[in-house]
Amino acid sequence: MAKDNKKITEEMIKITGEQNVLFSENELIAYSTDSTNIYNPDEVADVIVFPENKNQVSNIMKYAYENCIPVVPRAAGTSVCGACLPKKGGIVIDFARMNKIIEINKDNLYCIVEPGVIVENLQKEVEKYDLFYPPDPSNLKVSMIGGSIGLSSGGPHTFKYGSTKDYIIDLEVVLSDGRIMNTGSSCAKDVTGYNMTQLFVGSEGTLGIVTKAIIRLIPKPEVKRVMFAYFDSLEDTSITVNDIISNLITPSVIDLLDKNTLNTIENFYPSGILKDKEAALLIEIDGFKSDIDKQYEKIIEICKKNNSSYIQTASTKEEEERIWISRRSSFGATAKLAPNVVTEDVVVPRENIVTLVKGIKEICSRYNLKTCIMGHIGDGNIHPNIALDLRNPVEFDNFQKAKTELFELALSLNGRLSGEHGIGCEKSYFIDKALDSVNLSYMKQIKKLFDPKNILNPDKIF
Ligand SMILES: Cc1cc2nc3c(=O)[nH]c(=O)nc-3n(C[C@H](O)[C@H](O)[C@H](O)COP(=O)(O)OP(=O)(O)OC[C@H]3O[C@@H](n4cnc5c(N)ncnc54)[C@H](O)[C@@H]3O)c2cc1C
Repeated sequence: MAKDNKKITEEMIKITGEQNVLFSENELIAYSTDSTNIYNPDEVADVIVFPENKNQVSNIMKYAYENCIPVVPRAAGTSVCGACLPKKGGIVIDFARMNKIIEINKDNLYCIVEPGVIVENLQKEVEKYDLFYPPDPSNLKVSMIGGSIGLSSGGPHTFKYGSTKDYIIDLEVVLSDGRIMNTGSSCAKDVTGYNMTQLFVGSEGTLGIVTKAIIRLIPKPEVKRVMFAYFDSLEDTSITVNDIISNLITPSVIDLLDKNTLNTIENFYPSGILKDKEAALLIEIDGFKSDIDKQYEKIIEICKKNNSSYIQTASTKEEEERIWISRRSSFGATAKLAPNVVTEDVVVPRENIVTLVKGIKEICSRYNLKTCIMGHIGDGNIHPNIALDLRNPVEFDNFQKAKTELFELALSLNGRLSGEHGIGCEKSYFIDKALDSVNLSYMKQIKKLFDPKNILNPDKIF
């Protein structure tokens, strides 16, 4: 625990200037929570600092290392696993002021960015060059590249295009003692030694602090088409997904929304979603203009064969946008059902998806939890969004028990605790059951090697 926050604040002001430091009580409290809905008055940051360049980050780390002060890197703070919580107080580094897109290199298909770049801004900028950065953590209007790297964020495009880890080719990282390291290169291929870049992607700020990234880009698909296909049974959605894939089509998005999700979205953000169906698949296809009709007709044929009772296809940009706004509203709409909403992120091999979804429904109904289930069915990755009042001890206790059963269920189906949200401090209590013990012991040794004083985002993952 950091002791003397006046001294730390003065030091941060010396390093970054007064305009880049926050230390009022309210500001410290605001930075001691994230989208996980957790706030513990005993776990509050001592100071918030907004560095403007890598040298300032390096100086912050040199000071923190010498004085054993915890440091939590933070992007937009939308983590839903408590990955940004300052569990031991200390310095929170906010990257909002390191938000430059330094270069977009069309010929070599990469860009160089600072960690505070907002994901949607990057997508829009590269589109001007007919390029595409696919990872989309669903809240791309606010979340930042630094957070995407910290969690290896995925999102709806992962099924076809992969997640953040598939696009990061080089990182500039400030280490716990303030030294600066480059992990890779701007080359499309690189096996010059160990793959250090990937070690940092998804490490939740526990191994080093990213101050610059080189990101691979791909050519932008010429056209896309979006549709909602409704079904009266969960099984039919799963069969449909498998049929689409076995017909050699890879949709750019294939997401599942259950009946509660469809109803909740339509109740709070009406956009014409059908409320009487058991489930819907949001399907997006993309590619060349000459090919899109063929893909589309095949998908319609497959959906109908598998008893889809209704299909809504966007025929204008506005309709397309409306479908996407509905889909992106699922978390926000669920949040209107109770004072809090929490979300989980288990992932299983796709063949086990129906068993997983049915199991989640059963667990949540047994614990009386209002649950809207949606997820990236193509990846086997399901998000139960649970609306509850975390101040109510019975509801809180029920949620904790349900969560543990959910993890056990996922593991019993050869699954994992997280497909894209990470572990943070919310799932760390279960990590030793989820990982091979030798693997876990190597992870802990890696943490010790990079962060011998345990100052980088402590109490996360393990
Ligand atoms: C409504 C909603 C929908 C979501 N949907 C998805 C989804 O579909 N897919 C998905 O993958 N996630 C999703 N998430 C989870 C989360 O928002 C994303 O993973 C997002 O990418 C996190 O970005 P952020 O900028 O908020 O990062 P933060 O939450 O600020 O940080 C995330 C992690 O990265 C670390 N970090 C931040 N900056 C740095 C840095 N410079 N160097 C090193 N570490 C750093 C932090 O310490 C933390 O561990 C969703 C969350 C919400 C609230």
